[in-house]
Amino acid sequence: MSDHYERVKIELQQMKAVETEAAAEEEHLSPASSVPADVSFTALPRARRDLSRSSINGRSRSKSRGKADGHEKQVNGKHLSDVAPRKSDCSQEKGQNRVSNEQNLHIKGTGRLLKSKTAANGHVESCQRQTDEKCEHRGKEDGGKVAKKRRAVTVDTSKAKTSLEALKMSIRLLKWKEFPMGRRTACDIYWHGVSFHDNENIVSGQVNKFPGMIEMLRKINLSRAVRTMQEIYPEEYNFYPRSWILPEEYQLFCTQIRLLKDNDSILKPTFIVKPDSGSQGDGIYLIRDPADLRVISGSQIKQSVVQEYIQKPLLIDKLKFDIRLYVLVRSLDPLEIYIAKEGLSRFCTEPYQEPSQKNLSHVFMHLTNYSLNVHSGNFVHSDSCSTGSKRTFSSVLYRLASKGVDIKKVWSDIIALVIKTVIALVPELKVYYQADIPPGKPGPTCFQILGFDILLMKNLKPVLLEVNANPSMRIEHEQEVSPGVYEYIPSPVDEEVKVGVIRDTLRLMDPAQRKHITSNAGGVSPEDAIVVETASDEKEGLADSLPSLCLKQVFPKYTKQFNYLRVVDRIATIFLRFLGVKGTMKLGPTGFRTFIRNCKLSNSSFSMASVDILYIDITRRWAGINPDSREAGMCLQAFIEAFFYLAARRFKASPLREQVLLLLEVCEGALEGQSPTDKPRPQKSHTNPGPMQPSAPNTFSSPALMRRRHQPLQISAKANTDN
Ligand code: ADP
Repeated sequence: MSDHYERVKIELQQMKAVETEAAAEEEHLSPASSVPADVSFTALPRARRDLSRSSINGRSRSKSRGKADGHEKQVNGKHLSDVAPRKSDCSQEKGQNRVSNEQNLHIKGTGRLLKSKTAANGHVESCQRQTDEKCEHRGKEDGGKVAKKRRAVTVDTSKAKTSLEALKMSIRLLKWKEFPMGRRTACDIYWHGVSFHDNENIVSGQVNKFPGMIEMLRKINLSRAVRTMQEIYPEEYNFYPRSWILPEEYQLFCTQIRLLKDNDSILKPTFIVKPDSGSQGDGIYLIRDPADLRVISGSQIKQSVVQEYIQKPLLIDKLKFDIRLYVLVRSLDPLEIYIAKEGLSRFCTEPYQEPSQKNLSHVFMHLTNYSLNVHSGNFVHSDSCSTGSKRTFSSVLYRLASKGVDIKKVWSDIIALVIKTVIALVPELKVYYQADIPPGKPGPTCFQILGFDILLMKNLKPVLLEVNANPSMRIEHEQEVSPGVYEYIPSPVDEEVKVGVIRDTLRLMDPAQRKHITSNAGGVSPEDAIVVETASDEKEGLADSLPSLCLKQVFPKYTKQFNYLRVVDRIATIFLRFLGVKGTMKLGPTGFRTFIRNCKLSNSSFSMASVDILYIDITRRWAGINPDSREAGMCLQAFIEAFFYLAARRFKASPLREQVLLLLEVCEGALEGQSPTDKPRPQKSHTNPGPMQPSAPNTFSSPALMRRRHQPLQISAKANTDN
């Protein structure tokens, strides 16, 4: 930790002279020249690695963004340590990597056929362990000679698509075995370019995608998941801009903005409208009035998110930029999250001005997407990691540190944002996981690299823009060499960041490493187990032959600071229990009734008939929200709504958070000791619903909660007739 900051200090001193000079010049330069003059297109095609150039006719858009480096976090007054900005000189570091590549001879790896798996995203283990044990036993018999010589880890890269180049480099670095055309027998790792379902025939090993991740990270679902958390923990989740989901909240949005403007005529809020399934800035536009929403497509309102526009972003060189941070979700259960210590910063190509009616359509001023800005005449491809339109995040941090910014605090806030976002996503991901790979069925385990897009506000507060399920892992960019003819040119900044992320993700997913962790984890808490793992990783020679891991574990490392937020996860555990293992994602009326009975939630004032009405009411409303859904029944979000309703009904006076926590205790207490298949016992006595008390005041006002509170469910008025 501390030597990291020592390094930053030294770097800073070295960079200061150059940067002061550059900054002074930049004040007078046009945006096109706001990057040091020695960086030019002609400097680009340096053969930094033997990536063969390929020509393509016509255009294919590539997407890449960037972000991250870091340590230290402050949560509830505590620091989360370890941000490690690294060298920002790509060329130098590259050279070092290559040397270590040559020396890298003893990465451990085992290949084995995994024939069974355990719980949700669990880590396989019975067959795996047996195979390992046999292998080790044999090793011991041979006087230990064989023990070190493990079979290379096998990676199926046949579906890797645009990440192939970086993946190949990583596999070469690790001396693992690549199967570019797939393999008849099982591989240890399957690298998919798009989704878990890229290859449907995997029954063992590890796949680099979770089922449902793409769906969960669509703009509407992400907004919903974060909003659910905002309802319970508004302060903790205020890093996500206020959002409205269209079409369902179209009227609400119009009404709220009208009210806002009526109350304060000077107020000129701006909103950004994003199509639900869009990416790379496609279809995004800014508005200042609900009347400007271009939401109608045919007779339907387009599915999109309209979001408060952050008007005062932090600027560098007068340009807006965002951060692409790579995050590895190594496992859902137990939850394991790693953050890449280095990321990318993507810069706009037109100087920023606060939104006005005149500049609303200036995409190069307001949108930081690489895929858009690369088409601006002002875009600067740079061979250096600290200049140009795409830079390493560490170079941005150095720059900020040189201006006196507390970068530890910035990192700490970013780490908190990442952990909280993943915590919001996990409950529904578990439902997808169980539907795709029900317990007891053969299937792979999963991990996934996510791309977090984060904006720093002028006051340095990080804001979550979106999370990408398939962040671009391209390490080359397209260049038009003659009209209509494009070439792929190596991109040093991308290579610097992305190869490290893939290489270290593979190292962390090494089955031998995994097994080592498992065998070291006996009798200790998950938190301790990871500490053991990190330490052993560094000790065991991985660190001798390769650069130290560029992925920093943040969870369960910071479990203590964040575990209290996992309330929805607990609700999802109850939901999953009653969902059963039939591969469905929706709870039927019988499952819901069983939940109510087993948790002893019905009583004389809340009959089973009322339970049925509650089920129908909420399920019908959610079916209206998701009309495309093929499966009937109650989805997790609907169940959460029902749970909140039941909590509010039972513990009237408390704030929502307490209501929910209290109801969780009731449910978990009732379910303790019951096996998931237990039939409900006939209920002879009724659970005391608690004294009737006045409703709790609104402590916050997310649109969802307002909706819930403004449209009281009919159920509350129904008589209780059945139990
Ligand atoms: P896409 O998936 O199409 O890239 P994003 O949500 O990432 O969609 O938005 C595209 C760009 O728009 C971002 O990179 C950022 O520059 C800008 N942007 C998005 N949301 C906001 C916001 N709420 N405030 C300010 N700028 C935003």
